[in-house]
Amino acid sequence: MKKNDLCEIVISDMGKDGEGIGHAEGMTVFVKDTVVGDRVSVKLMKVKKNLAFARLMEILEPSAYRAVPVCDKARACGGCTLQHISYEKQKEIKANHVKNCLLRIGGVQNIDELMEPLIGMEEPLHFRNKMQFPVGVDAEGSPRLGFYAGHTHSLIPLSDCPMGHRVNRPILQAFREYLTESGAAVYDEENHCGLVRHLLTRVGFATGEVMVCVVINGEELPKTELLIRKLQDAVESENAQSEGEKGNVGLTLSSVSVSVNKEKTNRILGDYSRTIYGKDHIEDKIGESTFRIAPESFFQVNPIQTGKLYGKALEYAGLTGEETVWDMYCGIGTISLFLAKKAKKVFGVEIIPQAIENARENAELNHVTNTEFFVGKAEEIVPRLYEEDPEHYRADVVVVDPPRKGCDAALLSTLVKMQPKRLVYVSCDPATLARDIAFLTKEGFSVEKVTPVDLFANSMHVETVCLLSNRKPDSYVHLNLKMEDYYRIKDAEKEQGKK
Ligand code: SAH
Repeated sequence: MKKNDLCEIVISDMGKDGEGIGHAEGMTVFVKDTVVGDRVSVKLMKVKKNLAFARLMEILEPSAYRAVPVCDKARACGGCTLQHISYEKQKEIKANHVKNCLLRIGGVQNIDELMEPLIGMEEPLHFRNKMQFPVGVDAEGSPRLGFYAGHTHSLIPLSDCPMGHRVNRPILQAFREYLTESGAAVYDEENHCGLVRHLLTRVGFATGEVMVCVVINGEELPKTELLIRKLQDAVESENAQSEGEKGNVGLTLSSVSVSVNKEKTNRILGDYSRTIYGKDHIEDKIGESTFRIAPESFFQVNPIQTGKLYGKALEYAGLTGEETVWDMYCGIGTISLFLAKKAKKVFGVEIIPQAIENARENAELNHVTNTEFFVGKAEEIVPRLYEEDPEHYRADVVVVDPPRKGCDAALLSTLVKMQPKRLVYVSCDPATLARDIAFLTKEGFSVEKVTPVDLFANSMHVETVCLLSNRKPDSYVHLNLKMEDYYRIKDAEKEQGKK
């Protein structure tokens, strides 16, 4: 078989990125946009020794798991990879992915016994509170916004995204008009020139506060009054549209800022932002707690599922009110505040200074007085503090919630020294979770329970909460007894010798 050959295959499995897997002439063939049970005609695009990557040409017999995508750009856009699959099946695919990672990479042999059911979403649409739209131009040079196609920077123009809040549609429209009328130059990534790079929107689902942040390759955005007027009109038009709808929260434009990013980089936000209208943050609620969120701060994108995720983490933490807890990679202190209500003391650590500022404000806002936050890399701060004062900075329970690359080795080694009774690992990438588990289980921890939580319908992303307990204290007790026995015997021998 060679490149450009056409062949017919039946999809029998799913890959880690949500692609279908079939077999042809002894080769494993990966095909995007397919699902288990599909019989499809495909064109081979890349052929290696035993495997090939193919493009879907025709669905000859659709799988029973197929669904009609809600977005007509779903196949081209890199954002959603599972929209063609029923939500029930998506949940099964994600739970299996978590299970496979923990078994194959993590070496957790009894994973079937430890897995709890995946916590899925009730309404897998309009759930995202944050959107980041790259800005580009069309063939005529007119500005457009959208998302990148998978694995490229080619822009798929969009007037809306059904995963986001409905207010994004009028905001996108308003921003396109602003770009045209203001004459602000659109950023050209290749030549690193032009001004406007990205549009970021955030909505507090519980508070109705709307944040808009424009990322620019420069210091100033022209005609900001025009932009603000258009954004206010956009928010008002959405309010008029959704008035009287069930669960509707009236929206307010609360914060407009520019984020300065003059680097030639894939990173979206710059290091600092400047408020040009309203506040420098918005607020939202998860459970009973209120959170202040700056443009730079991480805040989970699906607030409803986040409540369930943190609830699970809290359950696994098993707090009684007496514990000292570390919340590592704490962001704006979301998990820390959940924990603080049930613990004696919570320490949090996070790399983004604005997020720690928010975390301290959030503790105050929620009248929480037993938290302490540190800015810096967890892998530098925690080992240093623990070495300086192991009694003060010890932990009964540790929660880690790292970015996709997982925990740094230096941090894991300190966790092993710290010997917490329980370790709750909240992960957004099952593969790095499994890698870290493989390390921790060699060092005396054991996996007790695992729950996948779906925060990202229609994409392969999945969060996992994992409870690990520490077997070491028992083995130390065991060892100590043995040593005591040893000395007792020696003493007894000495005594006998004397006699
Ligand atoms: N627990 C928080 C944030 C989790 S996201 C919540 O649920 O909202 C991961 C966080 O880790 C981000 O806020 C990111 O800024 C932070 N981070 C990334 N690398 C880090 C590091 N080396 N040390 C500490 N924090 C880091």
